[in-house]
Amino acid sequence: MPGSPGPQIAIVGSGPSGCYLAQALLRSLPHAEITIIDRLASPFGLIRYGVAADHQHTKAITRQFERLFQAGNVRFAGNVELGRDVGLDELRAHFDAVVLATGLSADRALALPGGELPGVIGAGTVTRALNAHPDEPTTLPDLGSDVVLIGAGNVALDLLRFLVKAESDYDASDIADPALERYLGSPAARVTVASRSDAAHAKGDAQMLRELAALPRAVYRLPDDPGSALADDGALDRAQAGRLAAVEELVASERPAHPGPAVTLRFGVIPVRILGEERVEAVEFAAGDDVVVVPATSVITAVGFAASDPLAELLADHSEVGGIEPGLYRTGWAKRGPSGGIPENRACAKSVAEEIVADVTSGALPGSETRLGFDGLPADVRAASVDYAQWLRLEQHERELAPSGRIRRKISDHDRMVAIAHDRA
Ligand SMILES: Cc1cc2nc3c(=O)[nH]c(=O)nc-3n(C[C@H](O)[C@H](O)[C@H](O)COP(=O)(O)OP(=O)(O)OC[C@H]3O[C@@H](n4cnc5c(N)ncnc54)[C@H](O)[C@@H]3O)c2cc1C
Repeated sequence: MPGSPGPQIAIVGSGPSGCYLAQALLRSLPHAEITIIDRLASPFGLIRYGVAADHQHTKAITRQFERLFQAGNVRFAGNVELGRDVGLDELRAHFDAVVLATGLSADRALALPGGELPGVIGAGTVTRALNAHPDEPTTLPDLGSDVVLIGAGNVALDLLRFLVKAESDYDASDIADPALERYLGSPAARVTVASRSDAAHAKGDAQMLRELAALPRAVYRLPDDPGSALADDGALDRAQAGRLAAVEELVASERPAHPGPAVTLRFGVIPVRILGEERVEAVEFAAGDDVVVVPATSVITAVGFAASDPLAELLADHSEVGGIEPGLYRTGWAKRGPSGGIPENRACAKSVAEEIVADVTSGALPGSETRLGFDGLPADVRAASVDYAQWLRLEQHERELAPSGRIRRKISDHDRMVAIAHDRA
């Protein structure tokens, strides 16, 4: 709004970090005009497209952001991509402050010999497909009978849950059914989870392991050969002890033999290379002084995420500070790197908001009445953008499309999403 009493602030990315930042900014700068842009037609980033479909209680966190977009001075502008529809300089010309909350969406590569072989798949590819992300095909590649999962963090554990679950375990979810059906058409017979760390020091939460233990699916075991380190001899903190206890629960002999894949948990193994001629056939691991070769029809790598776009250079060094240069900031995974769950982005956003407010107060961010914010963007970009009310129309449409047993059917075609949002479909 020209001549508005508060600064014009653009937040690029509507994931949790962008939304938490807008919330925090409004508390100190109630007159700020905030525009949250996103390349997608839908808000909420990885809450919609990363968090597992069978964890709807986690996805429900979006409800607390709804009031934000109804506040009047926070605008959602979906279908606007920084680097495609608007340049950073252009954005900075129209806004007093620009904050990158773009996350890190590319799978970190497993830099190993054979890592390029067909059948080696990034975790993000699978989790996006299961969440019907517009960037992914609507179905999954064939994973085959022997899946090796590299990594044991929470994303790996989400994937393990997917690999062991049955169709009925997705009741009341919004899983992308074509991807699920493809997998359940020929599910894995054997799954190996490979972690560099011992069980106590692996990255996954004990709660996620306990959820697997409680699920009447799959049989878990530790290997008989080397590579079964559960914990080193040092003292364990509470989280480590909890993780160890949860792994012991999973592999306990009292746990009944449930239907589903046979899962081998290999701790303390380092992947050395992927073996195969035309496509992946096995993975070679170093286990102490020994070598272990695990047959594989596919390998899913869950070893972290990286920046994937023209912003990569700007976001390469992770930082504890939001400011990049005067008027340009970052928050969330774009600032801290790809670690931490949704709540961690709240504290991060609060500290970046404090930096911005301090800059506004000290005059380091001189406001200008000539900055038009969203209204300064090219007319075609504004016309093509999806606002919050239009997103609600799209969301309602997805809910109405839900097949029996599902809460929504996500549309994965970006152009169609925009057309429905604009009531042109
Ligand atoms: C597979 C997976 C599962 C997860 N599960 C959980 C969980 O169960 N619980 C939990 O607490 N945490 C979970 N997390 C972690 C959580 O998702 C992150 O902490 C959080 O999403 C990071 O927030 P962010 O806003 O920084 O990034 P994102 O959520 O990635 O949001 C970034 C947004 O920026 C947009 N964007 C990117 N580039 C551009 C551009 N050039 N122009 C315009 N817009 C752009 C994207 O479309 C996206 O909407 C999971 C993460 C992954 C990867």
